Amino acid sequence: MPTNAAQIEELRWKKFSVLDDGFVCLVDVMGDDQAVVQAARVSYGEGTRQVSDDRGLIRYLLRHRHTTPFEMVELKFLVRVPMDTWRQWIRHRTANVNEYSTRYSLAIDAAQRTPAHQWRSQAASNRQGSGDALPADLGQDLSAAEAELLAQARQLYQRRIELGVAREQARKDLPLSTYTEAYWKIDLHNLLHFLALRMDSHAQWEIRQYATTLGEQIVRPLFPIVWEAFVDYRVQGMFLTRLDCELIERLVRRLAAEGRARATDDDFLAAQPPEWAELKRSRERDECREKLVKLGMLD
Ligand SMILES: Cc1cc2nc3c(=O)[nH]c(=O)nc-3n(C[C@H](O)[C@H](O)[C@H](O)COP(=O)(O)OP(=O)(O)OC[C@H]3O[C@@H](n4cnc5c(N)ncnc54)[C@H](O)[C@@H]3O)c2cc1C
Repeated sequence: MPTNAAQIEELRWKKFSVLDDGFVCLVDVMGDDQAVVQAARVSYGEGTRQVSDDRGLIRYLLRHRHTTPFEMVELKFLVRVPMDTWRQWIRHRTANVNEYSTRYSLAIDAAQRTPAHQWRSQAASNRQGSGDALPADLGQDLSAAEAELLAQARQLYQRRIELGVAREQARKDLPLSTYTEAYWKIDLHNLLHFLALRMDSHAQWEIRQYATTLGEQIVRPLFPIVWEAFVDYRVQGMFLTRLDCELIERLVRRLAAEGRARATDDDFLAAQPPEWAELKRSRERDECREKLVKLGMLD
């Protein structure tokens, strides 16, 4: 009997709402925290029992990217996702997918609608991202225009179907906001990789809602020890590059020599490696700056 049997029973087929009409739902699971430990002990043998408890072993595996024991655990989900978000989701090639067919069946009669307060401006600093919310009155216009377009597109689709056009052709002008459904099966290692990328603040807001729901509502209660390690090392951990380390070393020496605890931006720029010094703009330098602010070293 898996240690998470009660949680599986509680979660199976429970639909967690995402966006306005989407959901994620656990269908099946093979394995628990113990299954990861069991797989790892094949490689390390009984000896590990003395040096490390189960929690310590799971944390060691995740910290050192010894990933295959996590592949012994499998999860199957049913998900309902707008097609534009699905297009990002499906890039994760290490899952098994079976998607609702709009060649065989009528397209799902639902499209993701954006409420007036949820329209986002284009980010100034990141070409791929969003900035602040747009003003409410503009949002209302945008949502009204969206409703009109969705109604028109649906009417056209229905008309084509009624006129006998094949479903596979009738669908071609449906908007990307149309919902699709799919079974999605993936092992725990690749699921954590998906979650790390798609829960991250750099991922688009919509897919982030799905990833966060999958992670927090389903993976966390089913695999409490793995989840704790994942949050510690991947979600809230920080990766320092060689250049980051060199800069920090110089900065710490400079602050210690002057008896100061926190650096200013001038200190930061003075400590930067020669690779960055000549550059007017550097994304890598900006990312390093963000890390130091997070660490409380930089004002
Ligand atoms: C913030 C963000 C922005 C993005 N922007 C873009 C974009 O602008 N354009 C774009 O096209 N994509 C973009 N992507 C998608 C991204 O490039 C990846 O395709 C996607 O995140 C899937 O990652 P993956 O390949 O690591 O995952 P998976 O496909 O699940 O693969 C997991 C791991 O398995 C290994 N693997 C899988 N298949 C192979 C293979 N064939 N050969 C070798 N190793 C393999 C790799 O180690 C891989 O990391 C973006 C993703 C994110 C998170």
